[in-house]
Amino acid sequence: MSAAVVRWITKARPILVALFVSGCMSASGKQAIAPAPVPVIVFPLVADSVRFTSGFGDARGGGRAHHGQDMFCARWTPILAVVNGTVDWIATARPKSGKSYSVLLRGDDGNQYFYDHLNNDDPGTRDNSGEPGYAYARGLRNGERVSAGEIIGYVGDSGNAERAGAHLHFEIHIGRWDNPVDPAPALRAALARRSH
Ligand SMILES: [Zn+2]
Repeated sequence: MSAAVVRWITKARPILVALFVSGCMSASGKQAIAPAPVPVIVFPLVADSVRFTSGFGDARGGGRAHHGQDMFCARWTPILAVVNGTVDWIATARPKSGKSYSVLLRGDDGNQYFYDHLNNDDPGTRDNSGEPGYAYARGLRNGERVSAGEIIGYVGDSGNAERAGAHLHFEIHIGRWDNPVDPAPALRAALARRSH
């Protein structure tokens, strides 16, 4: 790059910044949504075939939006920690009727990973009264550190998944809980890495 060009860029920088900023604004003056970051994760399921259904942002009852991806696979499929981190929100007793077993993984990468509808059936039954030891990896406790790829629980249909069937509902929150992003790109990349 010639000195003249460098000088021009240096001089023009405030204008370029202004152009960039205005380019990020929509016609309404609101800031446009930047592309969501795609964290590098381990695929959360030990399954050869997984069927993705509901997508991110799909409408749910009461004006809520679906903040995750649903992955259908066999009941009892092991669920893996997607990154190194600390587990939280583990139920220490059977949830109240209709409530689900879920777990939050607070990643060392600063992101939060939420898993829902873990197994609530006793082995060989559909009794909805399985103890936490059949939802989570045996002995897993809140605050415990886990490594990426470690088994943390099992797929099931607890909560409102009874009718839909066993699946993992998985969410990614970048940096903080109120910042959910579509997990699909990270999941697809994780699957692709796994098949190599
Ligand atoms: Zn879901």
